Amino acid sequence: MFSDSHSHLHGHTDDQMASMLAEAQAKGVEIIVGVGNNLDTSEAALDLARRTPRIVPAVGIHPWQVTASDLESDARLRQLFGQKEVVAIGEVGIDLEKDPSSADLQWQVFRMQVRLAKELSLPLMVHCRGARDDMLDLLRKEVPVRGVLHGFSGTIADVTLWIELGFYIGIGVRTFTRNFNSEVEQAIRAIPLDRMLLETDSSANSLKSEGLQPTSVIAVAENVAGIHEVTPEEVALRTTSNLRTMLRLA
Ligand SMILES: [Zn+2]
Repeated sequence: MFSDSHSHLHGHTDDQMASMLAEAQAKGVEIIVGVGNNLDTSEAALDLARRTPRIVPAVGIHPWQVTASDLESDARLRQLFGQKEVVAIGEVGIDLEKDPSSADLQWQVFRMQVRLAKELSLPLMVHCRGARDDMLDLLRKEVPVRGVLHGFSGTIADVTLWIELGFYIGIGVRTFTRNFNSEVEQAIRAIPLDRMLLETDSSANSLKSEGLQPTSVIAVAENVAGIHEVTPEEVALRTTSNLRTMLRLA
């Protein structure tokens, strides 16, 4: 009944993948969104999802991965984003904290991907650091574009703005670890359970360094349950139902 709305599943060994999937099955993680971060890893995410029950693919170019050649990749993007298995466009977005020097390129590549998502009626999985107001302005102009703000760590004001736009808010492992404080706790309390998704943002690197994998989403559900004063099962059911709605899964 749990779901991990954001996991990077490329770069694992076959053994690691088999063990993560066995654990997901044993612990009731029924949907895992395998998220790409450039054209190659997005193709890998699609390929993995085609071969693996319970994994669905999101494809896109992450702001840390943008290159000038992406601007010439419209045909490849269109072809990839249009594959019938693709359920979301991500991970895409803007990060002006990590690399402000690539801001212009980031915005151009983001805009391309938002337009394609709108054209294809697919939800976006956005990464947003240091660019909230400009990103919200851009997205408001592209409504009915929809999606999730991934990796939430912010304030009640952030929650209000993203929910007004119609987006879901993705709560992850790091929301409760490296990014946690009392302001974040209040913000999580302010997110209605019907606007929330859970995620791990796990990857081959974070499996090694932090032991993150899709089943780490269970700890996220427990943390949210503590703040919302409900059971982890209720958090799991509601957030999985939200994910199915957003991705238009049967
Ligand atoms: Zn990610």
